[in-house]
Amino acid sequence: MNKLSREVLPELSAEALSFIPLFYIAWSDTVLSPSEMAFIHRKLDSYAFLNQTDKEYLLKQTNPLTPPPTEVFHQWKSLLQRAAKQLPDKQKINLVELGVEMAYQGTGKQLKKDLDHPQVLEALVDIRSALGLNRESEQLVSVLLKDEKTMAESGRAAFDAEKLKSILDGRTEEVKDRMRQLLRDPVFSVSFIPDKETHRGLVLERLRKLARQGLSGYSFPVDYGGTERISDYLAVFEMLGYNDLSLAIKFGVQYGLFGGAIMQLGTEWHHRTFLPGMIKGDLLGCFAMTETSHGSNVKNLETTAHYNHADKTLTIHTPRLEAGKEYIGNALHAHYAVVFAQLIVNGTGHGVNAIVVQLRDKEGKLMPGIRVEDNGYKMGLNGVDNGRIWFDHVQVPVRNLLDKYAQIKDDGSFDSPIKNQSKRFFTMLGALVTGRIAVGLLGNNASKKALTIALRYAMRRRQFAPKDGMKETLIIDYPSHQKRLFPLLAKTYAYSCALDDLALEYVSEDERDHRKIETLAAGLKAKASWHTTRTIQECREACGGKGYLSENSLPSLKADTDIFTTFEGDNTVLMQLVAKGVLTNFKQSFHDDGYIAVLRYLLTKIRHDSYELNPFSRRNTDAAHLQSEDFHLHAFRYRYKKSLLTLSERMQKYLKRGMDSYNAFLKVQLHTLDLADAYIDEIVLNAMYKRVHTCKNENVRFALTRLTQVYALSTIEENKGWFLETDYMDGSKTKAIRRVLSKLYRSMRPDIPAYLNAFAIPDELLGAAFIK
Ligand SMILES: Cc1cc2nc3c(=O)[nH]c(=O)nc-3n(C[C@H](O)[C@H](O)[C@H](O)COP(=O)(O)OP(=O)(O)OC[C@H]3O[C@@H](n4cnc5c(N)ncnc54)[C@H](O)[C@@H]3O)c2cc1C
Repeated sequence: MNKLSREVLPELSAEALSFIPLFYIAWSDTVLSPSEMAFIHRKLDSYAFLNQTDKEYLLKQTNPLTPPPTEVFHQWKSLLQRAAKQLPDKQKINLVELGVEMAYQGTGKQLKKDLDHPQVLEALVDIRSALGLNRESEQLVSVLLKDEKTMAESGRAAFDAEKLKSILDGRTEEVKDRMRQLLRDPVFSVSFIPDKETHRGLVLERLRKLARQGLSGYSFPVDYGGTERISDYLAVFEMLGYNDLSLAIKFGVQYGLFGGAIMQLGTEWHHRTFLPGMIKGDLLGCFAMTETSHGSNVKNLETTAHYNHADKTLTIHTPRLEAGKEYIGNALHAHYAVVFAQLIVNGTGHGVNAIVVQLRDKEGKLMPGIRVEDNGYKMGLNGVDNGRIWFDHVQVPVRNLLDKYAQIKDDGSFDSPIKNQSKRFFTMLGALVTGRIAVGLLGNNASKKALTIALRYAMRRRQFAPKDGMKETLIIDYPSHQKRLFPLLAKTYAYSCALDDLALEYVSEDERDHRKIETLAAGLKAKASWHTTRTIQECREACGGKGYLSENSLPSLKADTDIFTTFEGDNTVLMQLVAKGVLTNFKQSFHDDGYIAVLRYLLTKIRHDSYELNPFSRRNTDAAHLQSEDFHLHAFRYRYKKSLLTLSERMQKYLKRGMDSYNAFLKVQLHTLDLADAYIDEIVLNAMYKRVHTCKNENVRFALTRLTQVYALSTIEENKGWFLETDYMDGSKTKAIRRVLSKLYRSMRPDIPAYLNAFAIPDELLGAAFIK
């Protein structure tokens, strides 16, 4: 007899061994949801045929915070493969049969003969259904026999949606799949909740459920209960875009903004004091930067933090009503706030700094001197408790100052590794980069959801027939419908790739790239969130009246994502930051003095490698040329370089005349927005072509190329006014682009199901009854 390895499976009874195949499959899905876990715990506890060792072992295997280590998991797999080999093909695919065989191999006992088998079999069947594995046995067999899934269930698709999904999900595919699975659990199910208090209560409960799943610590060090995998944090956040966006935003406020500020602006004492409780979801926090009077211009906010040397405290104070903090997420629940205030030491202002201030005690009672008001009902995100906060001479110990970049020394003097106040402030704002990337990703996933709903609907909704009695036309077959939705689909893919590249660069960020990453985060957040707003509106209209019903998700998607264009930085303001970053070649902030020299250097450089216009290309209407990578790269580069050249020349002209930089920027403000737009468009195009070049599968490469062509040409079409004005192309070429686009749409049409399948949004999360 083939005894099973005892390191992997300690002295378990035959009955307990028979559960292993089920657990193996459950973990293959990489997630045990809270409902499944609770059910299994109850059941395991109730089985009289299991002894104490069995129960302890099995219960341990169901805790998401302590998943089986990879080696144990692999050993389970090889033991199962061995058991499967002993069984005829038909029984191999049955998890219960496999369990029975495993028990036999481990102990020599035949459950069906030697034991009280009806009870055990019944238990196995129960657990199997609790895990939803009834139809998953085939998957087990394919895993055991190493069968590769070849084609996705993508109808007539010419490519494998599963492979495209892997490209889209990138390096965090495993975490994303785990989230897809987890969010299907009924405890996360989304429905329209009109009452904000009920909604907020539910969101808070779910926030804690996510923490209990071990999903809250990804961006924090292991020493404080985290796992230090920021890319996984971003993946979790992104996937919450398929669920209730209030939960996503509350998660972002707690772990991204509050936790991120503690982590990035604080030092060891702050980390040790606040992070462990925060990761568990016991200590709730908020990020109090914006004031009623100062939103985009946070450098001039008015809350003060006066240092008192006698008792080594800081006094936090709101000088007037409109200087109160406003829109602050988690304001109604938070125990602590990271408050941004003007730091004053010995009568000298040291600019905006961040201080941790306790808002409430453990029981939720407000601390003395703190006033909080609910912001009330909002256009969307009503599951998030946004509010206003005022401080009336609130004293906190000086150690609450987040002191990575600003310290008050024992002798009461101020010190900082960054002497320039403005530079220090903008370095501190670097803490916002994660949030900007995260909002871009979240919004883009909301676009994926909206497009899945609208395009699936378009593939079943019929309106108008050529003649009475004939079948009506599917609305997806109307060229107008294709023109409305397909470029949005291509753009959603494109932003997904660009944001994924940015997330990777951010995670592996070194000092040299810091400013560039901040610029990209600002630009991609702005462009992606504008795209989300536009996409969801178009999808809503594309579904007609059905799109307007709350039960069909689009209204909440629209209302919840609308603010993405404003928070984490207003888009128009962010795009100006992008242009300033590009203008100074990411070498220095435009707030520093002396950037005229950088401008001069930049001008020489652009003029040197400026693109010449090609008179033949200007009129080339050949379809092969229009679909070529060379043409796309050239057109995007030309637009970016030309915008940069024009803007730099104008700026230089104004500065040479002695105009100050503030007014010079004001003069060229509209050009700065154009430059930022052109810059980000090119980044996004390159991200798509990078995927095309690295894709090994021919069919998937074709599918990606076609999306890239649609992205490139529809972007050129949107900017055709600029291309015509600058003589880059003439009218015959812009007309030809329209023709080629229509052809591309027709060619995409049969593959739409596969393009949507690659988003892999579980049906339960679409929340759209009308397309089920
Ligand atoms: C639901 C929600 C949640 C939020 N959560 C938080 C939070 O948790 N913590 C926090 O600190 N803040 C939070 N905020 C605040 C948010 O970050 C600000 O609303 C945002 O920064 C914009 O500030 P503002 O509303 O004062 O708009 P303003 O800055 O006054 O902008 C108003 C308009 O003026 C334009 N504008 C402003 N300056 C310029 C310029 N230089 N050039 C051209 N146009 C300009 C903008 O484009 C915009 O259209 C939240 C806001 C909301 C609505």
